[in-house]
Amino acid sequence: MKKHIILINSYLLFCAVSFGQQSDSLMFRRISDEILLHAQSYNNLRVLCKTVGHRISGSPEAAKAVTWGEKAMKATGADSVWLQPCDVPYWYRGKESLMLKYGKKGGYKKVTALSLGNSQGTDGKILEAPIIMVSSYEEFKTIKDEDIKGKIVFFNYRFKQNFVFTFQGYGDAVKYRWASPSTAAARGAVGVIIRSMSTGEDDYPHTGGMHYMDTVSDKKIPEMALGNYTADSLEKYCKAGPVTAKMQSECYMKPKKVRSYNVVGEIKGSEKPERIITVGGHLDSWDVGEGAQDDGAGCVQSMEVLRAIKALGIKPKCTIRAVLFMNEENGDKGGEAYADSAKSRKENHVLAIETDAGGFSPRGIGFEMDGDKKQAIIRHKDLFLPYGIYDFSREEGGTDISPMKAELNVPLAGLVPDCQRYFDVHHTNNDIFENVNHRELKLGSVVLTQLIWLVDTYGL
Ligand SMILES: [Zn+2]
Repeated sequence: MKKHIILINSYLLFCAVSFGQQSDSLMFRRISDEILLHAQSYNNLRVLCKTVGHRISGSPEAAKAVTWGEKAMKATGADSVWLQPCDVPYWYRGKESLMLKYGKKGGYKKVTALSLGNSQGTDGKILEAPIIMVSSYEEFKTIKDEDIKGKIVFFNYRFKQNFVFTFQGYGDAVKYRWASPSTAAARGAVGVIIRSMSTGEDDYPHTGGMHYMDTVSDKKIPEMALGNYTADSLEKYCKAGPVTAKMQSECYMKPKKVRSYNVVGEIKGSEKPERIITVGGHLDSWDVGEGAQDDGAGCVQSMEVLRAIKALGIKPKCTIRAVLFMNEENGDKGGEAYADSAKSRKENHVLAIETDAGGFSPRGIGFEMDGDKKQAIIRHKDLFLPYGIYDFSREEGGTDISPMKAELNVPLAGLVPDCQRYFDVHHTNNDIFENVNHRELKLGSVVLTQLIWLVDTYGL
């Protein structure tokens, strides 16, 4: 008799589990159908890219993007939408040019180059100096001070192409952009040229953030990036003989911070409204291209999550927020403002998710959280498989949400899309709407909505 009861109980448990799985996978399908058929994200991205364009923090374009974001957020059907203030730096590019002269004879030729973000320019004057090339910091250390003094140092460090996960290549190379001016100035250099942090087989230079390290040098020398093709030819000529450069740029960091905003939209929770799940991307971009993959894609994907939840008639237990963060690229002031506000209002955040790795086909979900919480999501991995999601191995949330972890120990997750093309376009004039595929973009929202539904339903 006892044995029969155990058997019946096991059968009922089996039925409950498989029914649960079946209804979960049906919900996953409903989410996917809704977004693949009716998403507004691609059209939203078109409007952002084509009517606002690039939008560096503090600029009039960034202010225009906030206005656009507030309107687009309201159109998702969110219960409430508000602007959250933050004060951001405003780095201004202005005109710039780089000319190179190979050998002793012949004249200067203009090449395509971009000043690095936050860098001080030449005050519009011409800075003419010989170039010295090094391939790494290790080699730089071996060069004598007198060979560096008065020179423009060309850090010819290549983005390693043999990482399959390209973010590893970026992580490996990015210090040459970030730290080279102070490193070189400390030894008497007058300027820096770098090979772009780029996988591109092309000549698009990449901009991106650099910073001056007062502890290393008090001199703020200019820094410019070359596309891979120009860097290849400069490398060739530097090996063959003397090369001189004429740098001219107007860029500078404006002395005053500018008032800007995060755009926040919210669906109030039906059972536990005090518990909050956040998903976001960043609204600011570098001042080239259209900020399409980085990170217009993440903004429109996050808003699409709210629209899909509303359209499907889902009544989430927790409060769900979409956030368009300001100033990810050179300050993270929006991310800090969001965490500060959460802290001062004693909000209870269950999970914060970021989508800031491009609007390419999603492949996985990264985590920055305790193992048991991670497992609470990974045990549902079979549900994600039909949507191409298999990689749960990455440890990453995102820059905008990182203060949530630092200040409030909120568990973080990050969307992990296919990364083969990201560093071809990111931070370049090539990061435009036309280089985003509408299906790939939508699939990102599918996975974000599925993840949020899962965590809202089963908790962490
Ligand atoms: Zn980004």
